[in-house]
Amino acid sequence: MEEILQYFSTASGNPFFTSSMALMAIGAVLASLATLYHFASDYVYSRMVVSISVDSDDVCFDWLESWIEKQNFFTNTRSLIAETEWKSGELLALLKFVPDMGDHYFQFEGKWVWMTKIKEQKTAAQDRSTMTIRLRTIASSTEPLMRILSAARDMRQEQMTKEIEIWTAANDYWDSEFTKSKRPLSSVILDEKIKSDMLNDIETFLQAKEWYVARGLPYRRGYLLYGPPGCGKSSSLFSIAGHFQMNICVLSLNGANMNDHALGRLMQSLPSRAIVLLEDVDCLFVDRKIGVDSAKVSFSALLNVIDGVSAGEGRIIFMTTNHKERLSKALIRPGRIDRQFMFDLATKTQLSAMFELFYPGEKERAEEFASLVPDKGVSPAAVQGHLLNYRENPRAAIESISELLMYDERM
Ligand code: ADP
Repeated sequence: MEEILQYFSTASGNPFFTSSMALMAIGAVLASLATLYHFASDYVYSRMVVSISVDSDDVCFDWLESWIEKQNFFTNTRSLIAETEWKSGELLALLKFVPDMGDHYFQFEGKWVWMTKIKEQKTAAQDRSTMTIRLRTIASSTEPLMRILSAARDMRQEQMTKEIEIWTAANDYWDSEFTKSKRPLSSVILDEKIKSDMLNDIETFLQAKEWYVARGLPYRRGYLLYGPPGCGKSSSLFSIAGHFQMNICVLSLNGANMNDHALGRLMQSLPSRAIVLLEDVDCLFVDRKIGVDSAKVSFSALLNVIDGVSAGEGRIIFMTTNHKERLSKALIRPGRIDRQFMFDLATKTQLSAMFELFYPGEKERAEEFASLVPDKGVSPAAVQGHLLNYRENPRAAIESISELLMYDERM
């Protein structure tokens, strides 16, 4: 001990010792100040900064992204990602620019918002990477940020009054592929009874969730639309989806990465208000065996996702076929398919209604047109093609009726 004291008393006379002690003291003070600063900034941050995170697994991620993109907040941002988007009905692809990963800042309702986009790489457990958008601002509650999400939702709702969204399967999750303008129900000319029957059935189902739950029934409904090609099966389905503000998930069992497992996951994770569409279902399975060699979905897996233990709740499935007679009875038995609707070749009533749709007010000519074409002789698609050729000239559409009669299915 004495030796240590002696060492200090000798060393204190040494200028190097004194200055290094002073440096140590300054270092200690600075370190304490830094810790204090961190404490203070953490405290201020936690009391003043509010944040909301949105993951790409949630549908509101898409709403938020499109809302952000529409605001033109980031025209001065130095780092953007270009995305190409095809809109059905548009000949050119749309180019849109969205902020790149990292931090970005914008003003909303007078407040600065700090947005961070984070991409999480896929892990062994996940087979795709996910993205997160984190919004932060200085406020006493998350209310200003919630208003951003509400604005994004309102924008999507407004869009849904005009368009429907088409989702396709990308591996085992749904990807919002493109949007399609709604087709008015009045533009699909069907037997009025079939049309109202279909609409009433779907409407009743959509309103009956509690009824199903109270009775322990699975809340699902399946429809089969069948009949010759070009008679309005797909068109009806798309306009029905638009009418009920629903989106369509196109299920392609022949997709490259489709297998029993992916099919199960897809049906368990349907976006809200979605109709599942399984087109040309007769071509998929022949005698319960898959019709396409490369496909890896088994018939039993399909039946299972339609009404087995892995079938999702609250979904509507539509199957279409031109050859109902080729379908396995198991696929369309009640419980899997609840209602079947036949779409036939054009009746006289449909013929004159289609004519009037093209040439409003031409009632007499419409009757004449219908009288020249045999009942259930041609498909509405053939009628549409013919009328389109004479779009401006109803007289010529009648005079050249022989061109349409070439498509008489009975010949
Ligand atoms: P399907 O699914 O029965 O093969 P689509 O719905 O794809 O037939 O129809 C093909 C084309 O024919 C579409 O462009 C559609 O506008 C027209 N079409 C078919 N049926 C009707 C109909 N009943 N009313 C109006 N247009 C129709």
